[in-house]
Amino acid sequence: MQDKIDKLRSDVVSPQSLFIGGEWRVPQSGATMDVISPIDGVKLTTIGDAGAIDVDLAVKAARAAFEKGTWSKAAPAERKKILFRIAELIERDALELAVLGVRDNGTEISMALKAEPGSAAATFRYYAEAVDKVYGEIAPTSESVLGLIHREPVGVVAAIVPWNFPMMIGAWKIAPALAAGNSVVLKPAEGASLSLLKLAALCAQAGLPEGVLNVVTGRGTVAGEAIGLHGDIDVLVFTGSGGVGRRLLEYSARSNLKRVYLELGGKSPNIVFADAPDLEQAAKVSAFGIFRNSGQVCVAGSRLLVERSIHEAFAERISAIAEKIKVGDPLLLSTESGAISSEIQLEKDLGFAAQALSEGARLRTGGGRILQDTGGFYMQPTVFDVTPEMTLAKEEVFGPILSIIPFDDDAEAISIANATPYGLASAVWTGNLSRAHCMVRGVKAGVVHVNTYGGADNTVPLGGIRQSGNGHDKSLHAMDKYHNLKTAWIQL
Ligand code: NAD
Repeated sequence: MQDKIDKLRSDVVSPQSLFIGGEWRVPQSGATMDVISPIDGVKLTTIGDAGAIDVDLAVKAARAAFEKGTWSKAAPAERKKILFRIAELIERDALELAVLGVRDNGTEISMALKAEPGSAAATFRYYAEAVDKVYGEIAPTSESVLGLIHREPVGVVAAIVPWNFPMMIGAWKIAPALAAGNSVVLKPAEGASLSLLKLAALCAQAGLPEGVLNVVTGRGTVAGEAIGLHGDIDVLVFTGSGGVGRRLLEYSARSNLKRVYLELGGKSPNIVFADAPDLEQAAKVSAFGIFRNSGQVCVAGSRLLVERSIHEAFAERISAIAEKIKVGDPLLLSTESGAISSEIQLEKDLGFAAQALSEGARLRTGGGRILQDTGGFYMQPTVFDVTPEMTLAKEEVFGPILSIIPFDDDAEAISIANATPYGLASAVWTGNLSRAHCMVRGVKAGVVHVNTYGGADNTVPLGGIRQSGNGHDKSLHAMDKYHNLKTAWIQL
């Protein structure tokens, strides 16, 4: 497969336009943005820098398509056919999509293949299968009345997504929104638009009617803000940082009170007890739970809490694994951790490492920029011993930095685990069943892994609690965001 990847890696990527109403259109202002590849810091192509006027055109196209009903009123079995076809086309072009995405955002290709086209195809298939299996309800009323609860599409859904896994996260939003019969306006992140533009082309090829999926690329502060403030978007779904999430809630309050669902960041605790069934396996999986995609993973296990009796040995083990991780060219199948998505993000990560040192954290390994001669953005997998008060124990880095904290007993582990405003992911490693269940109950998070980290499939929801968000992607629960409930109260 490496030879195929090598052939694709230098394909010329033509300048990209916006996809509105089934047509490729340049922004009304003609403005473009450069796409810089994090692999080598070289310009890859340009994307459209959409303004409020383009967002308005996209929303109008989405609304017109919704009202026309070709998709929104299509028989569920018809929608299902097209969603299945989209999944097939994603799989047909999987390698091309993965390489394009990696050139854009730097994720190692071994991970991107599974997590991007692989996962996106599985998600389209999952919601294709759901289309004709989600029912309305009949209420348990008195004999003289019939109470029906209809599920209706909400209308126009806007999705704003981040750069770390654009196709996977994009599909988590687009597929259930389309399955429910809505029209969609998608805004990819500045640093990862290319694979989603290609996905729009595949959706059109699969027969999705024009205007049902629109893609506007551009800056968050311009196109994103225009989406947030638009008066004719019914639901806004978002994955990204807490700061932007707060803004979106404000935009909604200032405009049409659109429903806003947020999937935000985390500082996820990964708790290792001395009685874990296999400490070697725990160390390996925990290392990749933070260092895959250079730590640019919302559910990354960035805080490693280790029972004091094994703390030193486990910290040494995981540092040794970190030192051996092959960081480098993300388009080599042998690379285990690719590039940091942008120079700005790399600076941010290095800033966190510098601050940790200045606060007295002990650096076990890493901490620096590497492979600078490539022109790309790479950082060593980094491990620090920290105390719970330090910045690194509290703030999300979104980079390859692991913080290790010892604990003495279960109560202290839970107390440290819950001592952040976040509540996204977590894990507990133990061979004691009762302890595992107590930790599942005690840790405040949307997901608690037991004796593993990551990997949950489409059958279960992914969502945060507390300041990690208020919406769920994946599973049938995600469909609720894209439906309105309507009651029919019928006197018999
Ligand atoms: P970000 O919040 O900077 O950007 C996300 C998106 O919001 C981008 O498309 C951006 O253009 C847009 N945006 C920026 N400013 C905006 C504004 N004022 N109005 C409207 N839109 C705006 O986040 P990021 O740097 O792309 O991603 C990293 C963050 O995402 C991390 O905090 C990470 O934890 C989080 N994340 C969460 C999940 C999850 O499922 N919970 C998954 C992946 C990433």
